[in-house]
Amino acid sequence: MSNYQASRPCVLCDATDSKHYCSFNSLEYVQCNRCKLIYVDNFADNDAMYKAYTGGGLKSLRRKLLAPIRKMRSIKGYTHFLQRARGIFAFAKGKVPPAGGQRTYLDIGCNKGFLLAAAIEDDCNVHGVELVTELIAPFCNTYPDFKEQVYSDKFQDVAKRFSDKYFDIITAIDVVEHFEDPLSDMREVHRILKDNGVFVIQTPDIDCQKAKTLGCNWGALKPLEHLHLFGRENFVAFGKKAGFKEVTVSDPFEEADGNFVAVLKK
Ligand SMILES: [Zn+2]
Repeated sequence: MSNYQASRPCVLCDATDSKHYCSFNSLEYVQCNRCKLIYVDNFADNDAMYKAYTGGGLKSLRRKLLAPIRKMRSIKGYTHFLQRARGIFAFAKGKVPPAGGQRTYLDIGCNKGFLLAAAIEDDCNVHGVELVTELIAPFCNTYPDFKEQVYSDKFQDVAKRFSDKYFDIITAIDVVEHFEDPLSDMREVHRILKDNGVFVIQTPDIDCQKAKTLGCNWGALKPLEHLHLFGRENFVAFGKKAGFKEVTVSDPFEEADGNFVAVLKK
């Protein structure tokens, strides 16, 4: 694979000489020579990608059947997940000035909605984006007032609903690596964020110990889902390219899991 030619330039620095990184069946990860971004050169088709999210099969079927009645409290690990979400939400809230009124909050890739639940406890007006509707159903059953504010569309399409500078706080925990067009998604986040708002992300770190020792067996290399993988350094450059003035990286919310956190301000 040493003479593999990358078919698309690096989204981060536009360099065109990315080199082959790892193969997974017909999907190829390449790495930008200049900024070190690792990305899937040839995306799978939409159906294959969606199936990777739902897990397919029995698990997905069981979720579908239970979706109309299930409440959040019946989710396995409920207390743990809510505690974790409260911690992450408090971290993000700590980065914005005290609120004059009710805060507006968006969680991109909200999964089962624990961050939204933590923000509701804090009296926020919450919105969520989650492609897999069955995942978010227990949240909608638990908080019917907010079910119209959870959208199962791609972020790019959901973002169009919001005017400029709408949100005080936006989070994307373990999500930016899933974006198909990360620069344009980041610019949309920048557009809908208030001037003194904050955007908090967590994503896998290509410079973590596991990435180095495991090579192509590193768990974050999942080419149907993780399309772009960053390091702390290139993520700062990436945030700035998307328009953010201040990008600060720090250690992940869960210890030693090979991710990093970034806080982005306008
Ligand atoms: Zn690059």
